[in-house]
Order: sequence, then structure tokens, then C-alpha cells
Amino acid sequence: MKTIYLDYGATSPVREEALQAMLPYFREKYGNSGSIHDFGQVSREAIEHARRQVAEAIDADSPREIIFVGSGTEANNLALIGAARKHRNKGNHIITSSIEHPSVLEACRQLEREGFEVTYLPVDRFGLVRSEDVKKALTDKTILVSIMAANNEVGTIQPIAEISRLLKRSSILFHTDAVQYFGKVPMSVADLGVDLLSIGSHKIGGPKGIGALYIRKGVRIEPLFHGGGQERGLRPSTLNTPAIVGFGAAAYLAAQEAEAESARLTRLRDACWQRIRDEIGEVVLNGHPTRRLPNNLNLSFHRVEGQAVLLELSRNKIYVSSGSACSAGKHAASHVLMAMGTDEETAFQSLRITFGKETTEAELQRFITCLKKVMDELRSLLINES
Ligand SMILES: *Cc1c(COP(=O)(O)O)cnc(C)c1O
Repeated sequence: MKTIYLDYGATSPVREEALQAMLPYFREKYGNSGSIHDFGQVSREAIEHARRQVAEAIDADSPREIIFVGSGTEANNLALIGAARKHRNKGNHIITSSIEHPSVLEACRQLEREGFEVTYLPVDRFGLVRSEDVKKALTDKTILVSIMAANNEVGTIQPIAEISRLLKRSSILFHTDAVQYFGKVPMSVADLGVDLLSIGSHKIGGPKGIGALYIRKGVRIEPLFHGGGQERGLRPSTLNTPAIVGFGAAAYLAAQEAEAESARLTRLRDACWQRIRDEIGEVVLNGHPTRRLPNNLNLSFHRVEGQAVLLELSRNKIYVSSGSACSAGKHAASHVLMAMGTDEETAFQSLRITFGKETTEAELQRFITCLKKVMDELRSLLINES
């Protein structure tokens, strides 16, 4: 039985090109990029090449606007905590949404412990933040707004450019968590109009444990760690050359392929949803019907828990997610679905199917056949019990 991986929202396999680019930097070219000698300069040049690749992939003005950090989680913490602490003399109010990734929500909780006030905006039933709600929440103490570009659970794409226009003439900083958005659709920090943007490597075919924070020229934040002054003092520590090189290669490829790949994934996704609706039925789509990531289907199947379906599929070597990967260990209803006003039963029924680079139509055919079988079994079990 061949493995069918449909959990790209959790992580992705490292792309061959990224792996090949990384390998020399483990054993042959292992110099410290901070060393002045030529051996160190080899690493330094590789890192600066990757920085240009990442900058170009998000359409930044300059590679200097890219700070490499240890993960998407770290990029979010650095953006929120670093910006808030730096600008606390101007005010102590922060606006975010109630459906953010835990790395944003928990960074906000930390800021609350430090005396900041945080407004958690509601979302509509599709998971959309309304820009009027951002406007209404603004006070003369607001220093930072952080709204994710696309949600990791339901795939809803937020009106980031619209929100940034609203903040344009103010000194309020605007951050977006684009970890899930980046690499799925063509993107430009200029078009989005953001000051700070978080991206990660392992969701786009790069290695785990590396990410980046885009900091628009002129925007000032504080570091979270203190040390040797690398990354303009904002993220001191010896740079992870192989991971950065792999991330750069993956970012370059993702940007090159974004347009064609997003069209391909949208076709696969829509065909898959159509067949599930027609052939399995008693199912609802969570999130927005059109403003959603091309690779995301979040479905609630009536009468069966998502977790049960996940485990049955897993026995058939088909890997999907229920709720978000990060809260999979805890048996709590998804905070995202609850914020969307989904009832708890439907929230527990949710199953997240996320496609990627290596997903094929044939895999989806086999997935649907298997899902149908699993669903028939689980649902007939219920009828026999009652
Ligand atoms: C995965 C993810 C993160 C965290 O990234 P890591 O690199 O795994 O720490 C943050 N935000 C969103 C939206 C994500 O999907």
C-alpha cells in the first residue's frame, strides 16, 4: 500500500532541489558565516544568495529586509513582541484576530502579561475578518495590528491589502502571519502593504527549523535574544547555513511555480470536493467557498468525528489532519471553527485535507474511494448502535 500524504498544511517533504543545495553545507562548506577568512565567506555568500531568493520570492525591495529566524513561530514572536516592546512609549494597544495561529495568540498573551491590551477581533461564519471591525477597534493607543494572511485550518484568505490601506496614513505597524499563505499563491509585500510579514520554510518544501521575518525598511523592532549581533542584532546566533540555503531554494521554486501550481491545486481541490459531495454526502465545507487557499479542504462529515476518520485513513496509509496539527494532541474543539460560530459537534467532525507539490489526481481518486469506504463503515456502525 502506497502512502498518500494529504497533510501539507502541517508540513511538506523537502524538495529534491532544496536538499541538493543544502548538502555541501553540512560537511564540506561548514564555515561560520561570521568568520572573516575565506572559508567563512563561502557560507556568508550562500546565505546572502538565499536572502536574495527569499526577498525576491515575496517581492521585497531589498534583501536587507529579510531576517532569518528559527521558524514561523519565532518570526511571529519576534514581530509581535519585538514591535510591541519597541513602541510601548507610543501606546499599549494591539489588535489581532481570534483565529490566529497559537504562535500569534500566545505571543499576545505574553504581551498582556507585560501590560499591553489586546483586542481579539471576531470573524464571520466563513472565517473572514472585516476591515470595518479593524477600523472600529483602533484607538489612539493602538501601535500594532496583526492579522494572518491565510488561516492554517480552514484556508480562508484575509483582506490584507484592504486592512493595510486603512492603516496607511497612521504610524500603526501592520504584521501578517503569511506562513500558510506563502508559496501557495503569487505574493508581494508591496501589494499587501504590510510592515512585517512572517514566513516559514517547511510548509513550502524547505527544511524544518528555519523561517524569516520581513521587516520593511525603516520599521524598528527589538530583538528577543541577545548575543553576537548577527542578522543586524535582531536574531543573534551562528546562522544555520544548510537550512537557510534549503529555504532559499524552496522559496525561489515556490515563487516561480506559484501561479501554475495554484491553478493546478485549485482544479484538484474543486474536483475532489465535488466528488465527496456527490458520492459521500452529508458533508459541509468549513471556511470560505472561494476566498480560500488552493490546497485546502476543511470538511465536516455529519455524525462522524474527524479524529475517527483520520485514524481509519491512517490505517490505510492516508494522512490527513483533524482540527489543526498543533492542537491534535489536545481533544478540544478548534478555536478557529468555534470563532466562526460553528457548533461544537460540527467542529469535532472537521477533517482537514491539504494538497501540495507531489499530490496527483490518481492519489486523490484513491483517497476518495478509501474515504467513501471508511465513511460507510463508520456511519453504518452508528446506525447499528442506535
Ligand atoms: C505552521 C504555521 C506557523 C508555525 O510555523 P513553524 O515554522 O512550524 O513554527 C505559524 N503560522 C501559521 C499560519 C502556520 O501555518
